[in-house]
Amino acid sequence: MTAKKTAGAKTSAASAPAAASAAVPAPWIARQARALLAQRGHAWLLHGPSGLGQLELALLLARAWLCEQPTPDGACGHCPSCHSMDVRTHADFLLLMPEDEMLALGWPLPEAAQAELDAKKRKPSRDIRVDAMRDATTFAQRTSARGRGKVAVLYPAERMNHAAAGALLKTLEEPPGEVRFILASCAAHLLLPTIRSRCQGCALPWPPEEQALAWLTAHDIAHAEAAVLLRAAGGRPGQALALAAAPLEAAPRSGKGALSLSQAAAAQAVQWQALPGLLARGEGAEALAALPVAEAVGYILYR
Ligand SMILES: [Zn+2]
Repeated sequence: MTAKKTAGAKTSAASAPAAASAAVPAPWIARQARALLAQRGHAWLLHGPSGLGQLELALLLARAWLCEQPTPDGACGHCPSCHSMDVRTHADFLLLMPEDEMLALGWPLPEAAQAELDAKKRKPSRDIRVDAMRDATTFAQRTSARGRGKVAVLYPAERMNHAAAGALLKTLEEPPGEVRFILASCAAHLLLPTIRSRCQGCALPWPPEEQALAWLTAHDIAHAEAAVLLRAAGGRPGQALALAAAPLEAAPRSGKGALSLSQAAAAQAVQWQALPGLLARGEGAEALAALPVAEAVGYILYR
């Protein structure tokens, strides 16, 4: 499944964080990338709660490893390899994602898979399927097209199905010299222990609040709103950005019709801002129970 451009790939608002961070990575991601680029290793497991930038970091590393003129900070950004990464057609780069994620993030699907979806033979997969993993095995075995090795990224790695995990394990046990694997995961505990043990682990850092707020405001979110959304997301900037992008679904609706974006954000802000008071009065249980579990737990841990 090399990244070929297909007409069926859609771009959505969800692709904005990855695209933006490839151009100007968030400072905490850039720092982590610098540290990892100074190390060796053929299989990395980037892990931590969702919204900390696992995919962004994985793409930064892949871009730097494949770049023709890399610096200690990462890829040069203007060589032919960097250009191929930017337009998602690099022959030495393989991204393994569930098809629903590929479509949501605007990545092209393999031609055969796209044809099946176009013909409505099936729905986009929600897991990383074993046939995708077979593509990875073929990818691992062939020669690097540009002579700088190859990189395969799996995200979210915990969404490999059982057969795919078995196929990956085989590949990791006998790593061909030229390929590096990056498993990016938001729930690494769900991975097979045998897979985890074959990877070098890297826990994604929690960004300092002021950096996270600056990053959110750089994504056109007002500072006050950014502070509320960041708190609502338990301190995870990626999650905060996702909340800002989809407030209509998250916010309660009142009256007729859909809320405007600013109304929805305001409603959501009220909901979250009320939470500390309710918790202090011992009345937070119901409010927390109404929130998505991950956000509620994140909020408690972060505050
Ligand atoms: Zn380059």
